[in-house]
Amino acid sequence: MGARIIDGKQLGAAVRASLRERIARSGRSVRLDAILVGDDGAASIYAHNQARTCEEAGMQYQLHRLSSSSGYEEIAGRVLLMNTDESVAAMMLHLPLPKGVDTERVQSLIAPEKDVEGVNPANIGNVVYGRRSLVPCTALAVLEMIEHTGTTLRGARCVIVGASNIVGKPIAVLLMRAEATVISANRFTHELPKIAREADIVVAAAGVPALVTPEWIKPGAVVIDVGINRVVGKDGKQVTVGDVHPDVATVAGWMSPVPGGVGPMTVAMLLRNVAEAALR
Ligand code: NAD
Repeated sequence: MGARIIDGKQLGAAVRASLRERIARSGRSVRLDAILVGDDGAASIYAHNQARTCEEAGMQYQLHRLSSSSGYEEIAGRVLLMNTDESVAAMMLHLPLPKGVDTERVQSLIAPEKDVEGVNPANIGNVVYGRRSLVPCTALAVLEMIEHTGTTLRGARCVIVGASNIVGKPIAVLLMRAEATVISANRFTHELPKIAREADIVVAAAGVPALVTPEWIKPGAVVIDVGINRVVGKDGKQVTVGDVHPDVATVAGWMSPVPGGVGPMTVAMLLRNVAEAALR
């Protein structure tokens, strides 16, 4: 029997619908303010799509464009202005920033209570302490998707493949908060397939196409694929694939697809953070 699919598109649509209702019930208007520096094509497309998804969730979207010649002072100045602007409740910064601008330094200026991507280190710290805070959206998406399978997290063995600050580590911390037993693996982990094979839940977030193969997976395990990799497909065209080999579906109990899994759910979690920040 093949794995059951965790459909991020469907789950994401349900989240947007419930946010729409919640915002309508509140009688308040909710807006996401986003800063876009320069004219990076991919970031512009992302911003355009974001405006549409905000609308679907009953929210407004305001894009603040800065020129590609902006330096740290100018970008930081805009962030600080938005921090003090009472009409701004939820904000984010599109990447990349121009060469030479320290992204983390700018991100750490975003007021934690408005930081809907959870990129200010203060918010990561709050996640560790279990305090109410805005949690990085991809980590929230992974947790929601695991919860959707009905798997009990307390006591579950989880292996997180990848330990970056914005993806792997926050996922590990959220699972620890749920009292799971968590192994955080990275490119230097010895005997990773053997370790993964013991896990009830495997989260792949390494950015390596088809890294996780059926030999890594315990029959019936939950497998969440965070990876987004562009590769050349059989027909010579570029395709998007995850970090999990498709054959894993023959072993796993549940599996999230790429595309259509963690990606759309991450967008939905961003919107949920916007509602949290605005309606708090
Ligand atoms: P990163 O490069 O910052 O970190 C990669 C991590 O994976 C590191 O800890 C590294 O040690 C580990 N790693 C690399 N090769 C490995 C291997 N062979 N075995 C075990 N561990 C290995 O990447 P990131 O920013 O965390 O992103 C990871 C992936 O997730 C990328 O494909 C990225 O595109 C994707 N991503 C998806 C979403 C989403 O919403 N779906 C959001 C952010 C990132």
